[in-house]
Amino acid sequence: MTCIECKRELSYIDHRKSVDTLGAELCRQHRKRMEKMIEKYNTSSEAIQLYYGMKEAGLHPMLEWWDGQKFVDLAISRVKLNIEIDNEYQMITHEQAMNDLEEAMHSFKNGFTTIRIPHIVIKHNLKETVNNITGIVEGLRANIKVI
Ligand SMILES: [Zn+2]
Repeated sequence: MTCIECKRELSYIDHRKSVDTLGAELCRQHRKRMEKMIEKYNTSSEAIQLYYGMKEAGLHPMLEWWDGQKFVDLAISRVKLNIEIDNEYQMITHEQAMNDLEEAMHSFKNGFTTIRIPHIVIKHNLKETVNNITGIVEGLRANIKVI
């Protein structure tokens, strides 16, 4: 049992606490850091699950990334990919849909790709979700090379 972030050996208690509260294996220091982040940004448990899922797959995501206008749930800056997690998929109003479209337009103009992932697929299909994101990152990387 080692910390996902720093590979430090975990005590039984630290392991138990971090898995119970965050669903990820973290040392006390990294657990505290994550708890502060949740307090500050109201980060969802799905965002944290996806963050560590992506890290384990060898991607380098950033949580609560400031893109110059707003905080993005997750981002991979190297390929300019933003990931937003949708929490209330059925409840979307046409104003919200319009805002999303406008945000997508702005991010494309700035060379960013934004994907929106419903929180339910992270909860139920984390591995497949991470596999798909890995594919998207590979596609983006190939496109960057062409340019
Ligand atoms: Zn650690």
